[in-house]
Amino acid sequence: MTIYEKVCKTFYNNPSLSKILVVVAVSGGAGGGLLAYSDSKSYQAENDVFPQLEVVNKKKKVVVLGTGWAGTSFLKNLKNPSYDVHVISPRNYFAFTPLLPSVTCGTVEARSICEPIRKLVNKKDLSVSYWEAECLSIDPERKKVTCRSTQNADLNGKAEFSVDYDYLVIAMGARSNTFNTPGVEENAHFLKEVEDAQKIRQSIIDCFEKAALPTLSEEEKKRILHFVVVGGGPTGVEFAAELHDFVNEDLVKLYPKAKEFVKITLLEATDHILNMFDKRITAFAEDKFHRDGINLQTGSMVVKVTDKDISTKALKNGGVISSMPYGMLVWSTGIGTRPVIMNFMKQIGQTNRRALGTDEWLRVEGTGEIYALGDCATIIQRKVLEDIADIFKKADKDNSGTLTVKEMQDVVDDILERYPQIELYLKNRHMKSITDLMTDAKGDAKKEAVELNIEELRAAFSQVDSQMKNLPATAQVAAQQGTYLADCFNRMEECEKNPEGPIRIRGEGRHRFKPFRYKHFGQFAPLGGEQAAAQLPGDWVSIGHSTQWLWYSVYASKQVSWRTRALVVGDWSRRFIFGRDSSRI
Ligand code: FAD
Ligand code: MG
Repeated sequence: MTIYEKVCKTFYNNPSLSKILVVVAVSGGAGGGLLAYSDSKSYQAENDVFPQLEVVNKKKKVVVLGTGWAGTSFLKNLKNPSYDVHVISPRNYFAFTPLLPSVTCGTVEARSICEPIRKLVNKKDLSVSYWEAECLSIDPERKKVTCRSTQNADLNGKAEFSVDYDYLVIAMGARSNTFNTPGVEENAHFLKEVEDAQKIRQSIIDCFEKAALPTLSEEEKKRILHFVVVGGGPTGVEFAAELHDFVNEDLVKLYPKAKEFVKITLLEATDHILNMFDKRITAFAEDKFHRDGINLQTGSMVVKVTDKDISTKALKNGGVISSMPYGMLVWSTGIGTRPVIMNFMKQIGQTNRRALGTDEWLRVEGTGEIYALGDCATIIQRKVLEDIADIFKKADKDNSGTLTVKEMQDVVDDILERYPQIELYLKNRHMKSITDLMTDAKGDAKKEAVELNIEELRAAFSQVDSQMKNLPATAQVAAQQGTYLADCFNRMEECEKNPEGPIRIRGEGRHRFKPFRYKHFGQFAPLGGEQAAAQLPGDWVSIGHSTQWLWYSVYASKQVSWRTRALVVGDWSRRFIFGRDSSRI
């Protein structure tokens, strides 16, 4: 029996002792930590073998806020057992958001795309605990977060608690953005969470049942069966396409009289839908929607919503304002900042931003050990021109006041790693390396003879920063950031001793880790009627039925567990055979 087990047993067999808080220093069995004893009764209910021994050891405490794409990917990839991990999120499951539009019409069931977080983080070597609560505020000075349980009503004042941390990982995502348009919050459906998708599904059926009642006029039926989608991004477009299929493949068979009254409108403020995609995809999608009878109104901005009408303003033609009656509205115009993130940003002096600014290692600027990833964060890429004097100093090893090609070659890998925009710029200018930029700045001079002073180097790099782009708010980015950060945490000690990052342009030595680098694997846009479009790296475009099959296989393979994979594939098969279910449950 180990010392640990002996201590456990002694306390378990002796109830009087068990009320005393004892701190025992133990070596070996408990990983060299301190053991603090707490009330045994509470433990006996859960586990009858040993009383509860709270390990107050030297493990670093990592608090993770959020169980979405970023948080879950971090937790799934964290393997280093030297952390004590606490997860806090109002959602005790992970949801596969790319299939939410399919949930709105019953193509896929809600439970098929969700996996309990406790199941995902249940690991042999790693201690991970989960609390279902939302973070209310972050105190970076005292290294504490304040939270409130989502079970608020039953807890008689015990719902709020605070948790301290050594490392904080903020992965709270974003909320839907209404741009403060009057009436949207009260009257529109959003499509962000699983509950939203379930509400939309019920609401569609409600509209069809209401319109089937014998007491309604044709005018009222027309209004009730007018479905309006605001936002021509991938989510709005996919929902409009799903809804069109649901109505035409399933609902018209059950509500044959409703067919003549149904109308689907897609409103988009800019000139085209799917702006972030290749023009060929946009053109195909717009064409398909016209053929399908989806009423596509581009250049049309919603300015007000009431319970029965939507007012829009034409962005051309003198800004004419018109209004349309509607039965159901789905609002999908992009994302905004959560209030808790906004307050935190004010606290740390990050104002006028849409998301928490981090450095290239995902560390929140202006804080200590706080990391932010996914939709709630944005990487502030360092500008080359801001650092040009320091780059020059670092590279000019002989302090001659000029930089030779040879001197530049010695630091070129570090510089390319630190400032990825340089590589993009070189690619666009069809140049092979930074030294090409230097020789280019010196006109016809021979490569070996090229020497630049600081002003000439500044001029050579003057356009480089124009290549900087913010990363999109997608699951792909969030998941890659989670994996990257977990990898850094897994190798924290190792890289402390042997740093692997680029040289520090300001200061000495190297950065501990390589900076985060996003790899884009392409993006899909399902367009309904078993057709999809895909834009793959290298501006490869694929459209049609075969792309829809590619979509099926990619989305099946990306599921977080075999259970959800089986459920999703099962739902797709059920839909092929029996169609979608229209019961309002
Ligand atoms: P989320 O996944 O939103 O997770 C945020 C987490 O934080 C949640 O668990 C939430 O409960 C929790 N949280 C919220 N408030 C608090 C709080 N106060 N305290 C603690 N926790 C909190 N991306 C793609 O790449 N491909 C797609 O096909 C795609 N399709 C999409 C379809 C839809 C309908 C939607 C809505 C999004 C889609 N996206 C897609 C985008 C993608 O879902 C997001 O970019 C991704 O979810 C961002 O991950 P995240 O972890 O930052 O945030
Ligand atoms: Mg020199």
